[in-house]
Amino acid sequence: MGAGRSVEPVTTADVGLDPIGLLIGTDRPAVTSAGLHRHVFPGTGESNATVALAGATEVDLSVSVAVEAQREWFGLTVDQRRDKLIDLADVVRVHLGELAELNTRDYGVPISYAGNAVMLDQFLRHFAGYVDKPHGSSTPVSGSTDLNFIEREPYGVVGVIAPWNGSLVVAAACVAPALAAGNAVLFKPSELAPLAALRFGELCLEAGLPPGLVNILPATADGGDALVRHPGIGKIHFTGGGDTARHILRAAADNLTPVVTELGGKSANIIFDDADLDTAAARSAHQGPLMQAGQSCACASRILVHDAVYDAFVERFLAVISSARVGDPLDPTTGFGPVISEAALVRILGVIGDAVDRRSGRLLTGGGRITEGALAQGYFVEPTVLGDVDNRSALAQNETFGPVVSLIRFTDDHEAVRIANDTPYGLNAFIHTRDLVRAHSVARQLQSGSVWVNQGSRISPQGPYGGYKQSGSGRTGGLEGLREFQQVKNIRIGMS
Ligand code: NAD
Repeated sequence: MGAGRSVEPVTTADVGLDPIGLLIGTDRPAVTSAGLHRHVFPGTGESNATVALAGATEVDLSVSVAVEAQREWFGLTVDQRRDKLIDLADVVRVHLGELAELNTRDYGVPISYAGNAVMLDQFLRHFAGYVDKPHGSSTPVSGSTDLNFIEREPYGVVGVIAPWNGSLVVAAACVAPALAAGNAVLFKPSELAPLAALRFGELCLEAGLPPGLVNILPATADGGDALVRHPGIGKIHFTGGGDTARHILRAAADNLTPVVTELGGKSANIIFDDADLDTAAARSAHQGPLMQAGQSCACASRILVHDAVYDAFVERFLAVISSARVGDPLDPTTGFGPVISEAALVRILGVIGDAVDRRSGRLLTGGGRITEGALAQGYFVEPTVLGDVDNRSALAQNETFGPVVSLIRFTDDHEAVRIANDTPYGLNAFIHTRDLVRAHSVARQLQSGSVWVNQGSRISPQGPYGGYKQSGSGRTGGLEGLREFQQVKNIRIGMS
């Protein structure tokens, strides 16, 4: 989504707000090679901040600063590095409310959904625990008495690129393990959602991390491209859409820079005929159109329902959706908020209109923009459900990234698995059943990096989380997530 997108830089004179600078070391450059971006709060459509954008010049400067900081960081004892990460987690914990609010201001996610800030706290503590644990091993070697040992080392300076819906999640799942492994980070949030990431960078300094260890570079695609192409970057960790991933993989090929990709999904949520329908309906509504207005990689946008319970499920599901409280994302009682931008709103309404025109399914609820009262100023799309959707349709095959879900009927387990696997994606899958043998059997057959049984997605620091097929190539969380930021060295010492 948005690959190659560029924004029209604005000048300070265009908006009456002081621009927020990047964070490079301890410097806050607000006059940069890539200009400024007027940030818009999706809840009101109004500009609430102006941010500086990083370009090639700022990427280059950040790499130099980060190289020095990484040397200092990796020169500390493991106790010191572990304790610094725990200090950072403590500082983050004190600022959870503030981070949650900035996260809401970033992209309009309801503040009641404060999970992203909490994740940051959890992941930092988890990965701090790895710093002083064994990272290497030794092994005998054939035909000699040599000492052969294997060490895991940091890449040096790594680039972490985040989507607009996940700068705190990416700080948690990628920056925390990168630091634990001994790297310095150039962290590039989307220009659409830079506020929480910038505050996180400030908190890193407040916690006593070496200046330059974590640099925050809000940027458009152009700044991101400069980051990917910089020869001083040891590895790129990218979270975002598949089209952007293709650009990045091509750009990274010039320097043969390794890239991890965490991409989108078209996750199936399978409701078997023995499921507890009330619970399944509530979970499916939250995991589908309601959670972040469907703007989550974990959105279960295809709900596969057994024919025998289809009508009973649909009735319950629509009742939950109609009870969702739509409103100002900063109001703690709001459960359903806006989409990220006017452009996203137009695109999502286009997807719905196209699906209706092509008779991909029957529109059961929603389908339009919410224009009641103050909501008309923001970018609110009604939670939208289409029934009896054809899984071969564009609606069922492509990530919509909005509050739109498809209901699809199936008649037996075999058919459910076949439909669930029949997309290019493989990020999450959900199963609702009381039969644990069925749950195990179906889970094994699903082509998906995560399978959640009788629950929604609950991404934990212990992980691993990531995609099959076109949903990505690496993992975040746990040892697998740490390993993404370590390279392996074999050292062999002759003993004779
Ligand atoms: P996007 O692909 O448009 O942008 C992601 C990031 O890449 C942004 O920071 C953007 O500025 C940057 N970028 C764009 N073009 C670039 C280029 N040529 N070189 C370098 N950087 C570039 O995605 P988005 O619209 O910000 O986010 C939505 C997507 O992210 C969805 O597909 C969603 O599923 C995915 N996502 C995945 C996960 C996961 O963990 N798998 C988590 C959250 C979001």
